[in-house]
Amino acid sequence: AAKTRGKNTHELFQQHMTDEASRRMLLENDLRAALDEHQFFLVYQPQIDIEQGHIIGMEALIRWRHPERGVVSPMAFIPVLEATGMIKDVGEWVLHDACQAIHAWQELGIWRDGMKVGINVSASQFLDASLTHSVRQAMESTGVDGQVLDFEITESMLIESVDDTIKRMHALRELGITFSIDDFGTGYSSLTYLKQLPVDVIKIDQSFIHDIIADSSDAAIVEAIIAMANHLSLGTIAEGVESTEQLAFLQQAGCQRYQGYLYARPLSREDMTDLMQSTATLNQP
Ligand code: C2E
Ligand code: MG
Ligand code: MG
Ligand code: MG
Repeated sequence: AAKTRGKNTHELFQQHMTDEASRRMLLENDLRAALDEHQFFLVYQPQIDIEQGHIIGMEALIRWRHPERGVVSPMAFIPVLEATGMIKDVGEWVLHDACQAIHAWQELGIWRDGMKVGINVSASQFLDASLTHSVRQAMESTGVDGQVLDFEITESMLIESVDDTIKRMHALRELGITFSIDDFGTGYSSLTYLKQLPVDVIKIDQSFIHDIIADSSDAAIVEAIIAMANHLSLGTIAEGVESTEQLAFLQQAGCQRYQGYLYARPLSREDMTDLMQSTATLNQP
């Protein structure tokens, strides 16, 4: 009888749960197993120097291969990882896996000096006291230098605690790590903080790039961001570049680098290796 009651209670509970909440719970349970089951993997999107046309780095982007649902976008699960605190462990895994890939590329002789891999870092992960230690550990266990890493942070991170963020940035800079502001222009107070922040690069959000040709306001915003960055001696990367028209506009506006489907979609580690191998040969004198 108890068993039957238990089942009924469960059914009742499910009935009353919203679709959204139950989906979220399933997702959370599946995510708890994902690290142990090796279901996460990284893809790499090349970043191109606009003047030279060379690959000067890449961004590491996480993917989740769900046993039933296939490959899941980070937009669907990063917020859950953040809300549950699981982002800390997954963030450590990202760092370690990216460093391991870099080491392999160095061993193959296709990693060029000055190249960097951009790592997306969540706010909670960034302010966690153990981050610097985790970074050092990833560097030591894989044998790569911090100079190969660029941490992508967002403006929203600054709203919580600017002082702590800046302190943390200085500690990481001592390891050779540089910083980019991701999705620039979509947060707020950007200009106030930009002056104080030890950042190297501004990544212009793809929402501005998307209509750069058709929308004169977006064009003006992008030109202004690039001009400001150049005056402040900050690097610029345009995100989400999909057409040659967009690229020509960015070049004319003085943007340094870009990433986007025009050059390549995010690639598996193997495909990135092949691309680096073929471009390394091409670029040889
Ligand atoms: P993001 O850092 O702004 O990454 C850029 C997003 O734009 C990526 O989406 C990329 O695949 C996509 N993209 C690149 N080129 C184009 C293009 O030409 N057109 C269009 N329409 N899209 C393009 P993705 O891979 O789905 O990642 C989404 C977001 O998830 C990232 O935005 C980042 O905020 C977050 N994310 C990804 N990997 C990680 C990670 O390892 N840790 C954390 N904390 N967040 C991550
Ligand atoms: Mg990013
Ligand atoms: Mg972005
Ligand atoms: Mg984004």
